[in-house]
Amino acid sequence: MSEENVKHLPSAIPLPLPEAELTDVVEKSKDWALMHGAAMRSKTTFSEDSLNFAPFVLVPTAFPRKQFLKSIEIQPILNELMHKVAHSREFLTECLQETIKVDDFTGRLFNIYETVFNEGVTQPISLGLVRSDLMLEGSCKGHAPSDSTPICCWKQIEFNTIASGFGWLGPSSRAIQRYVLQELGHSDKLKNLPDNNALEGLCSGMIEAWKLYGNSNAVVLFIIEDVTYNICDQRFHEFKIREMDPQVKVIRRNLTEIGDRATLGAKKELIIDGFEVAVIYFRAGYEPGHYHSEKEWDARLLMERSLAIKSPTIHYHLAGTKKVQQVLARPGVLENFLSDPSQVERVRNIFTGLYSLDFDEVGEQAIQMAIDDPERFVLKPQREGGGNNVYGLEVREAIKRMKDSEERTAWILMERIHPPLSRGYMVRPGGSKVPEMVDMVSELGIFGVVLGDGESIWYNKQVGHMLRTKVSTADEGGVAAGLGALDSPYLI
Ligand code: ADP
Ligand code: MG
Ligand code: MG
Repeated sequence: MSEENVKHLPSAIPLPLPEAELTDVVEKSKDWALMHGAAMRSKTTFSEDSLNFAPFVLVPTAFPRKQFLKSIEIQPILNELMHKVAHSREFLTECLQETIKVDDFTGRLFNIYETVFNEGVTQPISLGLVRSDLMLEGSCKGHAPSDSTPICCWKQIEFNTIASGFGWLGPSSRAIQRYVLQELGHSDKLKNLPDNNALEGLCSGMIEAWKLYGNSNAVVLFIIEDVTYNICDQRFHEFKIREMDPQVKVIRRNLTEIGDRATLGAKKELIIDGFEVAVIYFRAGYEPGHYHSEKEWDARLLMERSLAIKSPTIHYHLAGTKKVQQVLARPGVLENFLSDPSQVERVRNIFTGLYSLDFDEVGEQAIQMAIDDPERFVLKPQREGGGNNVYGLEVREAIKRMKDSEERTAWILMERIHPPLSRGYMVRPGGSKVPEMVDMVSELGIFGVVLGDGESIWYNKQVGHMLRTKVSTADEGGVAAGLGALDSPYLI
């Protein structure tokens, strides 16, 4: 976008800060973050015995209050939608039929899905611990111009159904910025930081599921990567569960350990190292690199076959693919899942243009659009965890390369969203003692918890949020990856 089209959100407090004040508040807020667990393990100097604070934005980013409330209000509708999508075998099968022919990873997940559904599902209950990610689109049309605050509307980036992290780091970002505002003499502004109880909300979901399982000796199993960088986020879930209900024991294992040592009991109870597992919470298993060999795939299938309540079930995992998101945006599709037309309308409004690259008329049109104007789009494969998408002129190169290959059906094309900019300071481990002011953009994640089965939903809540902010020139803003930073909304 050209400079004159770029809109800025106002800042929560007058910036820039005088240098002495900035240096002082950066120094103490770093310590505050570290000493309150807003931290991660370092990728460069990894040690299980130490932590770095997680990068954070010093002052919270201003958001129009009305928009923030809208994002929260829509979450239960999205929860219901995705629960129903996950439970529609016909829909998932149709959506993914082309994708699974060329995308081996999605194909393997789909095979597990087919296997367990053909055998008969042992545990009908799904626990959804989900996160809908949104960005404000700064150039929404159809609204009257108001004051200096840009007119914006939410557009959904994606809907995560597996390993939806930051249930701890989300609320802890608010806590850091609360401290910063107070230290800078802005205590009067604290009321504009919305409550965020994501951690309690997500852990309540796991405890509810544990109760439904009905064996007080059974445990909650976290499926983890071989090396956990985002350790605070995970451990605080564990600590919170233990605090909320000391009866619920939590264990952590990776897929390899499950493959080596887990078995199914007479009623298909999942047993590992002498523990019966009531609930499985996947913080890994969403990318091919987590499956080193057949052993890890066998582990996933074993868990899926088991009586344990899973977050996510394999069908929830598949429902969270970008391909499903793209099909949901087709005219007339939402109506199959949501009966209230006003709900359909609200959900449709947060969708941006999403196009398949199938070998049909729509696909050919999308290919042409991407070649003509690549910077209008983001090209996405069926992957999670960041760093997989294609942006800018590379969209054209990638499209040209795979235009005549089946591979293209494994990707979707999405309109690029242009959020309004904010200006502020990012504080990073190893960074300058006096950070520069930078232009930034933010992505808001709203957490949801759903419990239900193929027939009904009996627990459906919006439970909190997380805000990630990146420098405006970065394509992606993973916090652990280094370009993103923890942030929280300041409502104006
Ligand atoms: P993942 O599942 O890997 O997180 P996402 O769809 O969330 O995949 O894409 C990763 C990041 O790319 C997002 O966090 C966002 O910063 C950026 N991104 C994705 N889609 C868009 C889009 N349509 N417009 C602008 N940025 C996008
Ligand atoms: Mg994702
Ligand atoms: Mg994402």
